[in-house]
Amino acid sequence: MREPSYVCGRTDSPLLYRTVGEVLRLAAEQWPDREALVVCHQKVRLTYAGLYERAKELAGALLALGLQPGDRVGIWSPNNSEWVLTQFATALAGLILVNINPAYRTAELDYVLRAVGCRALVLAPSFKSSDYVGMMRSVLAQGDWAGEGRVRCREYPALQFLIQLGVDLQRGFMSFGALCEAGRAANPNPLEAVAAGLDPDQPINIQFTSGTTGLPKGATLTHFNIVNNGFFVGEGMRFGPQDRLCIPVPLYHCFGMVLGVLAAVTHGATMVFPSEAFDTEATLQAVATERCTALHGVPTMFIAELGHPRFTEFDLSLLRTGIMAGAPCPIAVMRRVIDEMHMREVTICYGMTETSPVSFQSDVHDPIDKRVSTVGRVHPHVQVKIIDGENAVVPRGTPGQLCTRGYSVMRGYWEDAERTAEAVDEAGWMHTGDLAVLDGGGYCNIVGRVKDMIIRGGENIYPREIEEFLYRHPKVLDVAVVGIADQKYGEEVCAVIRLHDGASVDPQEIIEFCRGQIAHYKVPRYVYFVREFPMTVTGKVQKYLIRQQLEQELGVERERTA
Ligand code: AMP
Repeated sequence: MREPSYVCGRTDSPLLYRTVGEVLRLAAEQWPDREALVVCHQKVRLTYAGLYERAKELAGALLALGLQPGDRVGIWSPNNSEWVLTQFATALAGLILVNINPAYRTAELDYVLRAVGCRALVLAPSFKSSDYVGMMRSVLAQGDWAGEGRVRCREYPALQFLIQLGVDLQRGFMSFGALCEAGRAANPNPLEAVAAGLDPDQPINIQFTSGTTGLPKGATLTHFNIVNNGFFVGEGMRFGPQDRLCIPVPLYHCFGMVLGVLAAVTHGATMVFPSEAFDTEATLQAVATERCTALHGVPTMFIAELGHPRFTEFDLSLLRTGIMAGAPCPIAVMRRVIDEMHMREVTICYGMTETSPVSFQSDVHDPIDKRVSTVGRVHPHVQVKIIDGENAVVPRGTPGQLCTRGYSVMRGYWEDAERTAEAVDEAGWMHTGDLAVLDGGGYCNIVGRVKDMIIRGGENIYPREIEEFLYRHPKVLDVAVVGIADQKYGEEVCAVIRLHDGASVDPQEIIEFCRGQIAHYKVPRYVYFVREFPMTVTGKVQKYLIRQQLEQELGVERERTA
């Protein structure tokens, strides 16, 4: 039998047994005057010493409110300096930070507040069409407001403090700025009393994840989980204090707060935030003005940057590395990022929130074809196996479900033993729901979600393969391949394509482009053109929505399965 699809990462560099707060303290001791945080849209600049001081002050102020280690503190805001401060302040005080997606509306807010019992909520006043203060008001009743940011209500019995960002303080809320001031004045800082009781195995962060469907689940992560993942991701990029990382990805997601913030802080690198939410021009501008050496993004962000009409006007010559992740990374886009954005050491990461998140990362020294076409090899200290439908490990080269085990696997979904047991088995393996293939050298290819795999006439089809092929068509900007219900074959292949600006092409031309080049059963039966895909905020195409919509339009129905 061929070698089994099981790999285990290097262990020559030991895991760090440290809390998130200790990581910041060590950075402040080692690189006090290095710039830690630059937030372009707020004109904020903090050194490592400054960031540590500010975080300690806020931590003290949160404790002075009466919050205690283990309490949950939600944050509902786009990217800003206060987000990063809150991340470290909560960690220093042993409070569990609850990341709330800034795109959430009242129903989801209600769900999250109930699910994890937040005692305090830090919220931005508003952003674009999201009026956070207004939404908060709408989930509380008149009598719930106790004044000055304090609330008492039956619906959310744990909730006590509402802390608002920004200068324009709304009635009933507590000012984040004033809280920081109070922390500065407090002497002694109550932090000293709790610091000794913290340990790296305590949960410190809850991130809501629903993949692309379903009710959000609160993945609970410890200091140990995210400190180590951030550290090894930074190692993978060969980060050092000379690096300046541009972070246009959201902080509420692990891409921002772990691959961005913790990868930087464990290496003394500078974090540069270009804007509150992704903005193509602001990102290119920040890379140029702040002389960034690294840039993160989901594939669609890089596609937007490369396609910006003034792309060539920005000086990106200092870029060296960064991470593309979060969704399949097209080979053609990777090549352009290397050639045109100078990111010769760009790496691809693969992971998921429940595994802190990264379990595969390409290495800057991997052969170029592996670097652009695979997600690299398994991360240090992490184990991965690929299994079939009967939970048996498949041989190398055979696709199956990717399972991850090791330090990085979450503690569980918050107070949800049932759904935790569905995801993490008794042997500690996190079943990711992703389909992958491991080659003989341990390089991994993600070929789709288990749920997105197309089964046409008994033939398994991995959408990724057809997508990669279609990216070669010069007029194709982006493509999503989905399976559409079909009476005869069970499912048929459908390619949904975004064309380059100004391009036009006939569906038949796309079909002809595939004929004779890929196996006949993979040639799309349907081709549609769209301007946008339905996306999650983290850059994932919501294929189930595309499928639903097309099946509705075509009037076809899926056979119900149990
Ligand atoms: P999240 O929990 O939001 O980080 O989403 C995790 C999911 O994103 C994974 O289960 C994959 O389906 C997808 N994903 C992340 N990185 C990659 C990648 N490099 N290639 C393909 N899919 C990816």
